[in-house]
Order: sequence, then C-alpha cells, then structure tokens
Amino acid sequence: MRLLLVEDEKRLADVVAGGLSRAGFTVDEIATAADADAALSTTQYDALVLDLGLPDGDGMSVLRDLRRAGNMTPVLILTARDGLEDRVEGLNAGADDYLLKPFAMPELVARLKALLRRPSGVLGVQLDVGNIRFDTISREVDIAASPVSLTGRELSLLEHLMRRAGRVVAKDVLEERIYGFGEEVASNSLEVMVHRLRKKLDDCEATAHVHTVRGVGYLLKEQPA
Ligand code: CA
Repeated sequence: MRLLLVEDEKRLADVVAGGLSRAGFTVDEIATAADADAALSTTQYDALVLDLGLPDGDGMSVLRDLRRAGNMTPVLILTARDGLEDRVEGLNAGADDYLLKPFAMPELVARLKALLRRPSGVLGVQLDVGNIRFDTISREVDIAASPVSLTGRELSLLEHLMRRAGRVVAKDVLEERIYGFGEEVASNSLEVMVHRLRKKLDDCEATAHVHTVRGVGYLLKEQPA
C-alpha cells in the first residue's frame, strides 16, 4: 500500500511517515501543494494523508483538483482542533475522513486501514454494519434477519451512512444525495428523517446506531456489545 503524506511541518511529517512505514505502508513525503499535485498526477496512490495549511496554498485546493480530475483515491485530512469549518468543508470537497491534530499514530493507522477496506461506490451490493444488512439491488433491509420497512428516502439515507460506516458524513452531502436538484428542502427535514430512521433502527434492536456530530453531520457506528 503506497501512501502520499502531504505535511509541511517537517518534524511531524517524519514522525508520521515513520509510524506509517512501521505499520507496513510505503510513504512518499511531500511538503507543498505544488509537489502534491505533481506526485498525484504521476503516481497512483492507495490513499492520501493531507494537511490543510501548506506553505504554497491550501490542502483543500489539492483535494478539489483531485476530485475534479475524477481521482477517487481515499483522502484523510489533518485539521486543527478548532477547525470545525475546515472539517465540514473538507468532507464537502470529497475527503473521506479527517483527524484532529494532535492525534495518536495508532488512530491514524486504524483510520487509514478502514479507508482502504471500504468498498468503492459501485461495489458492495450487500452492505453489512452490525446486524443491519442492506441489499442495494432489491433495496431491502434486514435487521437480525427480520425485514424492516423504510421509505425510499430513509433507504437512501441509510445506504449512504452504511457505505461510510464509522465515518462522519456531512449534512450537505446527505442532503445533496437524498433530495433531487432544485427540490425545496426545509432546513430541518434531514434532521427529522435521521430521527425517524434512528428510531426505526433502535426499535428493531439494531446493533449499529446513528450518531449526530453536532455542526458536522452524522455517522453510523456499530455499538460494541
Ligand atoms: Ca501545515
């Protein structure tokens, strides 16, 4: 697995690169947005770890350019603890996950492994999170092998949360996926729908729950027994 690490703080970059190497990854270390663009245009990476504050520009623009070019390499962004807007913007720009600085190496390794394991958008015909099973072809959901009745939009919401299980999905992203273009969406309608879905899952004793990450979005997470 080959990773691109874009981080301009030399000491942090060295520590992170060392930790990732020990975890079995091959790491290319880069310190500027320009070098990141160059590396990404010539090399196919399995994942990208991206600092947002770079000396010659914003990591966010690296991410946007990458997605605009149709490159779906998983991206984990590194953000400052108070950077709530950065996190939301990053998720909206196509980041797959984020980690707050300072972070522990095992956490970064675990998040990267989760990103590398995930099925891409076109795969994963059957999704499993805890005892919830979603057949994306028949659009049927079972919890502990019993069928559950969900509306079309609830299915769409659950599918997106299951595809990104364990990670936060931004509200804007969910709204964009669930509602059609130009459709009038009341400001609280997503919240209402999440509330209904959460209740249905809980009523069926699902072992995964929908969590609210205030100001950012939602995540579906399996509950340890
Ligand atoms: Ca920086």
